[in-house]
Amino acid sequence: MAGREHGRSSRADAAVQTQPSAAARRPRPRARRVRAYVGLGANLGDAAATLTAGIHALAALPGARLAGVSRLYATKPVGVMDQPEFRNAVVALDVPAGPDPETGALALLLALKMVERAFGRQARERWGPRELDLDLLVFGCHAVNVERPSAARSDDPAKPAVQWLQVPHASARERLFVLAPLADLAPGLRPPGWGESVATARGRAKNAEGPDAAPPIARWDPATGGWRPGVALMRLQDPGDKRR
Ligand code: ADP
Ligand code: MG
Repeated sequence: MAGREHGRSSRADAAVQTQPSAAARRPRPRARRVRAYVGLGANLGDAAATLTAGIHALAALPGARLAGVSRLYATKPVGVMDQPEFRNAVVALDVPAGPDPETGALALLLALKMVERAFGRQARERWGPRELDLDLLVFGCHAVNVERPSAARSDDPAKPAVQWLQVPHASARERLFVLAPLADLAPGLRPPGWGESVATARGRAKNAEGPDAAPPIARWDPATGGWRPGVALMRLQDPGDKRR
């Protein structure tokens, strides 16, 4: 503004300065969000209650909105068989997209790790018992691969070289205890790289693992924020393979 450039200070200038700028008048764009699917698992103590508390913790993450909760599943352990049965579920969570998919997904993974730690998860054998396991299954339509920074890599050659973050989750497509609850929420979803829908993958896993491998035992009651008996599937919004 010419007046200001010349250092003139007048009432008119003061009035101009109190006007909101053109940028401020523009409607603010809503923060971009991504629909993520997070798998929950627990098999120590009251596992169903742990999942309930875990779901509330996820819903309370900054910028997150809980968009759906699957039924609760009772699942036989995979890998290490000599341990208590698991309880598994999946939630749909709308989260901030971040400046790019890697950053957004990594921010969510770090939040999941923080919640796991808050629930007392300790480092134990892979596949072994756990207080609360949170896996980032799907992050919108994005395939994400983030290498672990070298400083954070384990020197122990016995430890499997797991990617720091791989989305869709590397073994989600094979595991009925992930696919069954995920299919409650999004049967038509086609995660990037799968070439098939969640419902198709679930059908194959069910054939392979048998009908009793992961039965649903309860469903989520949004009114009470907890599990209730009955496994009739409520009609949930299926985002299908809609790009987000
Ligand atoms: P799992 O869930 O396969 O039984 P863990 O929960 O012990 O195994 O996870 C081991 C590591 O897997 C984590 O430290 C994390 O960095 C890495 N990881 C890679 N991709 C993902 C993902 N999509 N969700 C969660 N963890 C992941
Ligand atoms: Mg995990």
